[in-house]
Amino acid sequence: MREERQRALKLVKKILDFAETIHPEDSEKAVEAVRLAMRIAQKTRLRLPTYLRRRFCRKCGTPWTGPSTFSVRVRGNRATHVVIRCKKCGHTRRFYALKKRRKTPKPTKLT
Ligand SMILES: [Zn+2]
Repeated sequence: MREERQRALKLVKKILDFAETIHPEDSEKAVEAVRLAMRIAQKTRLRLPTYLRRRFCRKCGTPWTGPSTFSVRVRGNRATHVVIRCKKCGHTRRFYALKKRRKTPKPTKLT
């Protein structure tokens, strides 16, 4: 089962690479390729590593190849986070920009 997942991961990577290279010429085919990659990941119950998950839009399947396909904003109104917006369907995804860390221990209450 593990080997199968490894194989699936390789395949998904390959398909995403393909989708990215073909996207400028044939965006429909690229979307189809991304959908296929997502389906493979689902079927094999594979959780895609972060660097792969941030390469395409989950909603419409457009591979994020460059500034014409997505925009990035850093927002800090609450916790600092990065907003990636798909320019095709308008879907937004948020990623926290800062790693959670708690080096300083909580102050203890003085009663
Ligand atoms: Zn989209």
